[in-house]
Amino acid sequence: MDNLIDIKGVTHAYRTEAGPLPVLDGLDISVPQGEFCAVVGPSGCGKSTLTRLVAGLMTPDAGEVWLHGERVKSPRNTVGMAFQNPVLLEWRSILQNVILPLEIVAPRMSRGDRIDRAMELLELVGLKGFEDKRPSELSGGMRQRASLCRAIVHKPDVLIMDEPFGALDAFTREDLWQTMRELRRQEPFTCVLITHDLRESVFLGDQVIVLSGRPARTQYILDVTLPADRTLDSLYTPEAAEMLATL
Ligand code: ADP
Ligand code: MG
Repeated sequence: MDNLIDIKGVTHAYRTEAGPLPVLDGLDISVPQGEFCAVVGPSGCGKSTLTRLVAGLMTPDAGEVWLHGERVKSPRNTVGMAFQNPVLLEWRSILQNVILPLEIVAPRMSRGDRIDRAMELLELVGLKGFEDKRPSELSGGMRQRASLCRAIVHKPDVLIMDEPFGALDAFTREDLWQTMRELRRQEPFTCVLITHDLRESVFLGDQVIVLSGRPARTQYILDVTLPADRTLDSLYTPEAAEMLATL
């Protein structure tokens, strides 16, 4: 199997006081190793539910989630996660926050190696010099950069991001898109990005999956054809406009 993630016929309903609330209806999504998969869809259509299923935080009512050839049934530390509001520990410095996953999954790694690995990432995202600051001393964009470093410091199989740039202003957000591309040039990890920003999905994604309906189904899958070395300017080309119009 070449796919890192295989979501097959995933159907899920929440049990609520008013009865079952069907959210996902037979989703099929495949993400090859190293690919960036962007999932777009309106608010409330089940995107966060999908991330919880892939991360093994919940199991679907029907269908299967496979990660690296293994059926996902429980949480695993081979999945890195990033959210809209990064949860950084205020009593730890930025460096200590980024190192945290290594303390958990690589207890035998030396302290020096952990610091080297964390600093390598902090430098890549432009946070060199901020490693000793507390999270509250950083801007929202910088906190999100730090949380991205923390999510990938232990080289998880996949990074799942649930609207990670949603709380940022438009300029900071575009900066983060560039940083994201730079990070993946250095470390081509597999990504699932949940977003409701169509431009973001087309700029970052190798494939864009559109969910809609209630319960949500896969409406559309687009293999993005922007050039591999795409820049923000490529979002303003006729090709990009055409692609966005199809979403
Ligand atoms: P999205 O992330 O696309 O906005 P969610 O996956 O968070 O959507 O939610 C999909 C639907 O399921 C929404 O109608 C939401 O209110 C409902 N929902 C989400 N989590 C729960 C839960 N734990 N219990 C009951 N309903 C939920
Ligand atoms: Mg959500």
